[in-house]
Amino acid sequence: MELIFATQNPNKAIEINAKLGAAFSIVDLKKLNITEEIPETSDTLEGNALQKARYVYKKTKRNCFADDTGLEVEALNGEPGVLSARYAGLQKNANNNMDLLLKNLEGKTNRNAQFRTVIALIIDGQEHLFEGIAKGEIIKHKQGKEGFGYDPIFVPEGYTTTFAEMSLEQKNTLSHRAKAFDKMKAYLINENKLHT
Ligand code: IMP
Repeated sequence: MELIFATQNPNKAIEINAKLGAAFSIVDLKKLNITEEIPETSDTLEGNALQKARYVYKKTKRNCFADDTGLEVEALNGEPGVLSARYAGLQKNANNNMDLLLKNLEGKTNRNAQFRTVIALIIDGQEHLFEGIAKGEIIKHKQGKEGFGYDPIFVPEGYTTTFAEMSLEQKNTLSHRAKAFDKMKAYLINENKLHT
């Protein structure tokens, strides 16, 4: 089945294509010549994912989905959450974001955190939400060069290395995004949507 992924990031589309398997064909916005930045102005991950999916559905009238992810830190009441990308400013710099987070956690003993991904799927005109969570903790110094965003300071539960010290293949078996995509895939297979 063909699904439009409401992202301007072709790497995300490639990653998800690999994850969903041959029964799915994922089309990103570049292929559809949709080049404008899609608004994401909600104060929740759910709201942003729905906003992006609805925007693309309205424009294309084709089955589509969008995702939104945030890092939720217990001792900071769930921050940076929906603001994860621009925590330290609109330039969306990953190093600055990590530095600010480490500073805000100075002196705190509770370092528990989770990445949470929400996917909004619009299929046959109906909206569905899927959530994936990866629990772990924030360490005090950056470690590792792989991945992106907050990966160098996040150690998933049950592991001693950060996401940035893992291969993409390993991260993909544990990650919040992978879990959310697994749920969407299971839904599409169970509901026999593959041939729509
Ligand atoms: P997005 O909604 O996937 O664009 O994610 C928003 C922000 O959350 C990103 O800019 C990153 O700062 C952070 N983020 C999302 N996914 C990950 C991840 O897998 N590892 C580290 N940081 C992430």
